[in-house]
Amino acid sequence: MALINCTECNREISDKAQTCPGCGAPVVFVSEESTNTPTKATYNRNTDTFSGTKLLIVKLAMKAIQEIGWKLDQANENLGLVTFQTGVTWGSWSGVSCSLNIEEIKEFEFRVTGTGKQNLSGGQLIALNIGNEAQSKARKAIDMMKELGK
Ligand SMILES: [Zn+2]
Repeated sequence: MALINCTECNREISDKAQTCPGCGAPVVFVSEESTNTPTKATYNRNTDTFSGTKLLIVKLAMKAIQEIGWKLDQANENLGLVTFQTGVTWGSWSGVSCSLNIEEIKEFEFRVTGTGKQNLSGGQLIALNIGNEAQSKARKAIDMMKELGK
């Protein structure tokens, strides 16, 4: 969510609002900030965040997953959610499913967190260390995003 100024009373309002809560004027998105809209996703080491737009970060996540060679499941720009699956690896018969959550912390700044879970296949009752394996895959994807966003 971004703050814009009402074109009628100049009050700061959410760009998601339909009308200005101050004067009732309809919100028209005419901001000069479109000129500073980032065109590239970059990683900021100091803050451990990514700069860009949500779409750019989603695309960066997709690129990172493809770069590693995993299978992209879905990418949802609105939710900031990118999910993928890895192939069969040691100690894992069916790969892991991971999701990357892209959370907007302020305008054009995002934090990416990952979660992973083991895909259970039929007949697989016990697998060792599966939680850690899935988590490490999510971390690897984020590390690749950092590398690509340098
Ligand atoms: Zn207003």
